[in-house]
Amino acid sequence: MNIEKYIVGVDIGGTWIRVAISTIDLQKEDIITKAIQTPKEHEYSISNAIISLLTQLLIENGIEKDQLLGIGLATAGPINLETGNVFNNANLGFREIPLKNPIQERFPEAPVYLINDGNAAVLAVHFFEADNSEKDNLVYITLSTGIGGGVICNGRLLIGKDGNAAEIGHGIVNSHSNFQCNCGAFGCWEVYSSGTGVKNRALEAIKTSKLSSKILLFMIDNDESKITAKEIFQAARGGDKFSKSIVDQCVFYSKVGIGLVNNYYDCTSIYFGGAMMKDSDLILPPLIEQFNTEPILFTVNRPPRIKKTKFLEEIGLLGALTLVKYRLEGNPILG
Ligand SMILES: [Zn+2]
Repeated sequence: MNIEKYIVGVDIGGTWIRVAISTIDLQKEDIITKAIQTPKEHEYSISNAIISLLTQLLIENGIEKDQLLGIGLATAGPINLETGNVFNNANLGFREIPLKNPIQERFPEAPVYLINDGNAAVLAVHFFEADNSEKDNLVYITLSTGIGGGVICNGRLLIGKDGNAAEIGHGIVNSHSNFQCNCGAFGCWEVYSSGTGVKNRALEAIKTSKLSSKILLFMIDNDESKITAKEIFQAARGGDKFSKSIVDQCVFYSKVGIGLVNNYYDCTSIYFGGAMMKDSDLILPPLIEQFNTEPILFTVNRPPRIKKTKFLEEIGLLGALTLVKYRLEGNPILG
C-alpha cells in the first residue's frame, strides 16, 4: 500500500498563528488550515500552540506523524537560523522565542525549516503566482503593520547571514526625519508607509495641519483615538484634504522605497501584499504611473512591473509550505 505523505506549513504573526497541511504537489484546493490568535504568555506559548494545532490537524485527518515529510516555519523576524529562535520582535514579545527546537523535539521524524515571513512570501509568489519571465528576479513587499520583504535575485532567494536579508522596511527614505521607527532609526520607510506609520503621522499632523479634516473627524466622531490607517484611506477617498495629504506622503515614500529596492536588486517584478492592500486603489496606481512615466526620479535601473498578490491573508502560510517543498525537492532557488 502506498501511504500518502504530507508537508506542513506554519505562519507566525503578531496576531495570528496559522498551520497548514498539504501533499507535496501543493494543490491549492487540497491545503487544510487551522488558525488561532497568537498567545503571548511565555516564551514557549507560540511553539506549544503550533504543536497543539498541528496535532489536532493530524488527528482530524487521520494522519500519523511518520507521514510528515517536513515542517516549514515562517515567522515575523528577526530570526536566527543558527539557534532557530526569533529575537527582539516587538509584536511577539520576549527577547528570545525558541521555535525550531521545541517543534523538532516533538516531531523528530520530519525536518523543521525556519524562514522569515518576507522571504517565505516571495517563495509563495514564485510558486503560486509569478510567470516564468519574472521568477528569477522577483521581489515581494508587504505593507502591513510594518513593511517587510523578500528578494529572489538571479534565481536565488537572498537569505543573509542570520536569515534576515531584505529588511527593506528599515531602509531610510528620509535622512532628515524626526520620526523614529520601532527599530531605533529615524526616517525608515515603515515610519511613513506602513499601517502604523500612516496612523502615527496622521495623529501628529492633525493638530497642526491647516488642511481640512472635516470628513475624517466626522467619520471618527471627533475622537482622534479612533484614527487608524483604514479611516485615513476612507476619508481620503471621500475627498478629505488632510487625509489625502497623509496618503500622498505614504505613496511618495513608497516611490522612494521601491526605487531603492530596484536599484539594489534590479528586479523584473515587485508584488505587493499585506493588510494595506485593502486600500491598494489609492496606493498602487500612482506607483505604477510614476515608474511607467518618470522612473528616473526614483530609480536608475529599468523600472520593475508593480503588481498586487492575490494572497493577502495566507501568503506566509503558502510560503512556509513552498519552503518545505523546495527544500525536499532540492530546488536551486534555495542554493
Ligand atoms: Zn526602522
